[in-house]
Amino acid sequence: MSVAKGVERVSHGQRRDRARGIAQERMLRLAELAAAEPDPDRARRFVSIARRISTRHRVPLPRRLRRFACRECDAYLVPGRNCRVRLEKRRVVVTCLKCGKVKRYPYP
Ligand SMILES: [Zn+2]
Repeated sequence: MSVAKGVERVSHGQRRDRARGIAQERMLRLAELAAAEPDPDRARRFVSIARRISTRHRVPLPRRLRRFACRECDAYLVPGRNCRVRLEKRRVVVTCLKCGKVKRYPYP
């Protein structure tokens, strides 16, 4: 049996890897859009779409969203506007001022 011209055969693994590449690109773009968006509700929308892509394709969220998107309410966090950033001993504490969720990550 021959394969139709122009139809590329790909394995599941290859298909998944390609989807992951595209997923990554889309999440990065959404992170940019969220960061540049003046309307907080629209920014939240970008964050939640990015989170869905991350879940669906099992690709980690881009760092910018890992750090500055609230896990609880999906707000895109802008220090001084809707979140508080404090340095503690060896960790950064980011508090969402909308829902109060606290996020901590280590440094250095
Ligand atoms: Zn929140």
